[in-house]
Amino acid sequence: MSTSLAAYASRAVPRYTSYPTAPHFREDFAPSTYAEWLRRTDPAAPVSLYLHVPFCRAVCSYCGCNMKLASRYAPIAAYAAALHDEIALAACLLPRGLPVGHLAWGGGTPTALSPDDLAALMERLRRHFIFRPDAELSIESDPRTLTAEMAQRIGALGFTRASFGVQEFDPRVQQAINRIQPPDMVARAVDGLRGAGVSRINFDLIYGLPHQTEETLLTTIATAAAMRPDRIALFGYAHVPWMAKRQRLIDEAALPDGTARARQSERAAEVLIGLGYQPIGLDHLALPDDSMAIAARAGTLHRNFQGYTTDTADTLIGFGATAIGRSPFGHVQNIAEPGAWARAIGRFILPVAKGVAISAEDRLRGEVIERIMCDGEVDTDAVASRLGCATGWCGDELKTLDGMAGDGLLMRTGTAITLTAEGRKLSRVVAAVFDTYLAAGRARHSVAV
Ligand code: SF4
Repeated sequence: MSTSLAAYASRAVPRYTSYPTAPHFREDFAPSTYAEWLRRTDPAAPVSLYLHVPFCRAVCSYCGCNMKLASRYAPIAAYAAALHDEIALAACLLPRGLPVGHLAWGGGTPTALSPDDLAALMERLRRHFIFRPDAELSIESDPRTLTAEMAQRIGALGFTRASFGVQEFDPRVQQAINRIQPPDMVARAVDGLRGAGVSRINFDLIYGLPHQTEETLLTTIATAAAMRPDRIALFGYAHVPWMAKRQRLIDEAALPDGTARARQSERAAEVLIGLGYQPIGLDHLALPDDSMAIAARAGTLHRNFQGYTTDTADTLIGFGATAIGRSPFGHVQNIAEPGAWARAIGRFILPVAKGVAISAEDRLRGEVIERIMCDGEVDTDAVASRLGCATGWCGDELKTLDGMAGDGLLMRTGTAITLTAEGRKLSRVVAAVFDTYLAAGRARHSVAV
């Protein structure tokens, strides 16, 4: 990477899983506004559902998620009971029998729930929503704690996809991130779910971890790819100890520098492509018959708070502490602390902590940012026309992009821009040109690569 590209790579910019991004959601947002948005949901359009379970049996020191250590089941059981109530509360406001095209369980570790509690919550959802026959039902799990009974139940409940955080197999790196899971443990978990009928498996891998080298990462990739996951998310470790306090346990001196991170990311992607995986957006790869690879080829890939998604629904209803939801009217995020979240539900109040209504300009800028992140190309006037906005709206942004074109990040023809191969690795930096909230500087972000 040249010096100018390395300077772009070290810029701290958002991951653009929404626009406006989460730091710009307003804390004075009223739950009654979200209730109104739910009431106005289009009864005919499929919605997506997300359920967050913030509990884990152990804490990984790299973790930036909203999670709580749970050594006993009682808090998890209480949480499951509050989830039932939150679903019922939202269902009172929504049109009856909304169709569902996507359901995702994330965390934390959703499989920290007992098999019976998971089944009861799925039954609750099926009581209030109509799952389309082709709906994708996905769940995150942890190879260290997934039991054979839970794997069987996940299959029996109709889940079509499961995700595992694999990260890195090198024992020294696993020690440094406090996540010990040898390859045979992961292989057993994968085999258990496939044997139960869960046809698609996702792996998360991470580069830029403490003590990680190109060699350990490539060995990890060879071992992981032998298990033939359908989809791989290849993330750079985001070291944000000012936000994720547990990352203070990470020895900063053992972290690879920017040049080494960029090299790890490049080599990992090269090797996976050589093994038959199709690169998707900034940080995903998938086998060519995976739905995400198909969506990327068709130009129908999207972003939501989980990253890249094949989900095309305008409405995503989030349940659980810290869950993020989206509607055509704006974004919301639930209260993060499980106790406060449950108490709001107990008072029959939607447990929303913050949110933001989106303007026509936000929608336009968000769409341009999403196409840059997903396709590596966009025509700003074409997007404006499609959304019924005035064309010729981004003169200043185009001037900034011309500077980036001079540095080899992109090519511009009129209002159409196409990122180069180098520019695609820096798509967050290019997308940030269209972000009018970034200058408000409310948040610190991780570096671009
Ligand atoms: S990385 Fe996953 S399993 Fe580890 S503490 Fe965070 S949420 Fe839990």
